[in-house]
Amino acid sequence: MNIEQRMDACKRIFGEFGGVNPSIHPSTTFTTLKPETMQKMFNGELEEAGCYLYGRHFHPNSLQTGMLMAAIENTEIAYPVSSGMAAISTTIRQIFKDGGHLVSSSEIYGGSYAFFKNILAKQNIDISFCAPNDIDQILEMTNDQTKAIYLEMHSNPNLKAPDLLTLKECLEEKEHSPKIIIDNTFTPLTYTPKNLGADIIIHSGTKFLNGMSDFVSGMICCSHEFLNELMDLNHGELMLSGPALDPISSWKLYQNLHTLPIRIREHSQRAEELAYSIEGLHKFKIIYPGLSSHPDFESINEQFNPTFGYGGILAIDLETQSNAEYFVKECQSQGLALNAVSLGYYETLMSISRSSTSSEIDESTMEENQLSEGLVRISLGYFGDLETQIEKYYNILNKI
Ligand code: PLP
Repeated sequence: MNIEQRMDACKRIFGEFGGVNPSIHPSTTFTTLKPETMQKMFNGELEEAGCYLYGRHFHPNSLQTGMLMAAIENTEIAYPVSSGMAAISTTIRQIFKDGGHLVSSSEIYGGSYAFFKNILAKQNIDISFCAPNDIDQILEMTNDQTKAIYLEMHSNPNLKAPDLLTLKECLEEKEHSPKIIIDNTFTPLTYTPKNLGADIIIHSGTKFLNGMSDFVSGMICCSHEFLNELMDLNHGELMLSGPALDPISSWKLYQNLHTLPIRIREHSQRAEELAYSIEGLHKFKIIYPGLSSHPDFESINEQFNPTFGYGGILAIDLETQSNAEYFVKECQSQGLALNAVSLGYYETLMSISRSSTSSEIDESTMEENQLSEGLVRISLGYFGDLETQIEKYYNILNKI
């Protein structure tokens, strides 16, 4: 089945009174009616679905949203949490509860990098940072102690793409195989990392999944076995650090996931058109995974889901901070974009990465990753007339 067939096959849940939308269930606790049932729940012996105990564990809205998200990512289950960082930190803490070695891309969201480097590294966890798309380096860094490899599917902000198929194949030849964790926040639907060899897929739901920039959330897409570990009463990070997403936000996310396929197609189609057009000016380097000039173009084409395009994010390297500031200021004053962090909104959002969402990353690592001070990351919205917008982009760029 493809993604849309899987989404379609998800059980339809009517609301109370036959409402076309499911109801919101704002209860924090649920009666089991019989005391024996509660005991079985605490003993982990209850097999039937649809029994709820307490809102920090599961509630009907988190289960509904998780099942739809699992259909999207082709995982056994998914679990909505209170932020993307909650998804990352609970997953990593669970896997590394007894220490170990993590190989992580060095070009990731600044908050993830700071969490790994400044918090985890001080808690008995060894971390090796690798280039985001250098499979040979990842394999070299991987040893018997390596419990996980952490990568973003399009790295933030240079949009490099790891060749997961090759990574998985090479890891299978080794006796010891760490879990592959993919942050797919930038590219939902564009990739199905599970089909490419990933074990756990993480999202900041704050971005494309929700698409409205109106609340913060996250998602862990994984196996039943891993979710059971996370939910363990005595050792589970989800159970014990408590980042469950509340019923109202879970419900909102469930509603908005239904429009994800049409939103992503529109984001991607517009981003590709803009990238292609402004590359044609031959003035500045345009980074977009759908351009043949992209260094990973070949492996991207082997791995992506063409029906959803190459994603809604592009970047333009304007070489200097002052060019970048001029560009962002003009785009904002001409109504093309908002100078704001985050992504996946219906309006275009742009920010200068080096001085904002990547500022936590060491100077030397930014240099190694060729993160230019003039790089502007653009999350292209789908609002307004694209032809008029492209003309405005031309005029602004021609004045730099
Ligand atoms: N992963 C990526 C790629 C991100 O860009 C972000 C946030 O900007 C996060 C994770 C963290 O998500 P949240 O802000 O929802 O905690």
